[in-house]
Amino acid sequence: MVQSILVVGGGSAGWITANLLNAHCQRAGRKTQITLVESPDIPTIGVGEATVPTIRRTLNDIGLPEQDVLVSAEATFKTLIRFKDWNLGESYDHPFDRRRRPQTDSSVGRWSAQNNLSFDRSFSALTQLADHNIAPKSPRHPQYQGSFPYAYHLDAIKLANRLAAFGRERGILQTLANVTDVAVSPEGLIESVQTDRGETLTADLYIDCTGFRSALLGGALGVKMKSFAKYLLCDRAVTMRIPYDVHTPPRILTYTQATARAAGWQWDINLQTRRGIGYVYSSSFLSDDAAEAALRQHEGPHSDTLEARHIRFASGKRQLSWKGNCVAVGLSDGFLEPLESSGLYLIEFAGLAIATMLEDFSAAPQATARYYNRITDELYDEILGFLNLHYVTSKRRDTPFWRAATADDAVLDDLRDRLELWKRRSPTQFDFPGADRLFAQDSYEFVLHGMKYVDGPVSGQIQVPDMRELIAKSRGELPEHDAFLALVKRAAARA
Ligand code: FAD
Repeated sequence: MVQSILVVGGGSAGWITANLLNAHCQRAGRKTQITLVESPDIPTIGVGEATVPTIRRTLNDIGLPEQDVLVSAEATFKTLIRFKDWNLGESYDHPFDRRRRPQTDSSVGRWSAQNNLSFDRSFSALTQLADHNIAPKSPRHPQYQGSFPYAYHLDAIKLANRLAAFGRERGILQTLANVTDVAVSPEGLIESVQTDRGETLTADLYIDCTGFRSALLGGALGVKMKSFAKYLLCDRAVTMRIPYDVHTPPRILTYTQATARAAGWQWDINLQTRRGIGYVYSSSFLSDDAAEAALRQHEGPHSDTLEARHIRFASGKRQLSWKGNCVAVGLSDGFLEPLESSGLYLIEFAGLAIATMLEDFSAAPQATARYYNRITDELYDEILGFLNLHYVTSKRRDTPFWRAATADDAVLDDLRDRLELWKRRSPTQFDFPGADRLFAQDSYEFVLHGMKYVDGPVSGQIQVPDMRELIAKSRGELPEHDAFLALVKRAAARA
């Protein structure tokens, strides 16, 4: 039986994983002691502000009330991503809802040429509600539930701090120290970790959440990275925080904006008291100084005095995520650029999978590690394919970056055949084997039609759902986003 787990690292990965494991062990009546050691000197990455809807299940699973998340992490609602200029001058949404007629509507061929309506507006209510800034839930909904699927924009540092306090209250032991040495047995198992406070920490299972350093899995166990750089060219980000007292937006948006730029793309995320913006770019096509200058220029003169942060990253994954008695979660395992907000999802998936496999690990450690590695690889491949799709379907050829990002050798092999089919028809469920995928038919439809990639003839009558009643009812029943957030703040002040 796994009686002790040592989590090394206290960023989003460390605290989400530690809390998930703790909640699952306590619910199962297992007496597993979870200890988290984190460096008092090495800062967390500090980004990771946009999530996907599974975050609600994860936070609920941990036991943190939704009101608490909204207040402590300054969270706002996210219902879609709005992509601008991925085909120059055009815009489309990737929402969390997909409406259908009761029958099939898979006969959608060349969508935009046949209609004045865009695909996203025809098959998603959230796209239209986002224009009116409507929240996906009202205060009357139970926590983590709404009229529509939703995720959050949140302050990653504040969420990790709140999860740390919450975890400590529920029995997670926290140590503030730097791990300086890792003892590994001749069989390749971690025997202990040493800290600069003179402690020797041991556990039945070690979880490496040390971020890009990957101190245990990459460092001590020597597991190498495999690179995805051929398919995802961006390897840098320059980010800024724009407080609302420096610049007040007309309203707090319910969507992430992802605007294509000359050498990558820029995110814009609205939290309760500030925006987070960041230019994700390729260092082969843009210098760090030029990227920062472009970010400031797009933002305007009010950003002149604000600090910019530069982050280097590589899209890739460790060849193994679980080796022996060590699993890497979060950036220590891998990274896929943040275009579809998948970073925290990878952590949620890992935390839940490990929690579910703890007993397997006691009984059959090698089979558990092999199986975990297989499903984690599959998940990375799934996300990689979806991210690659955004670039290779673009018609942009206006800069060296866009010519490289859309070149034939940047197309992922796994995507190539399907892209040929999707030239003529919309994706169907058979294009996405396997259950419970993060990005499947619905997501691909929004991107492929948003990018005007599908060019085949329309077969039969297109079945557009009638959403007028739903939109009118939702606008009547659901509050505006800003009004909902004001209620959250008022309730927090009263508490
Ligand atoms: P970190 O935050 O780097 O934490 C590492 C921890 O390990 C720290 O506590 C550090 O002190 C500790 N540590 C390191 N070495 C030692 C040591 N020797 N001893 C003790 N402790 C140690 N994800 C999303 O879901 N949505 C987004 O919008 C998003 N945007 C992103 C934008 C960018 C530019 C980048 C780079 C990432 C983004 N991500 C996003 C990913 C997300 O930020 C990460 O997945 C998430 O923050 C997890 O980070 P982490 O905990 O693995 O690493």
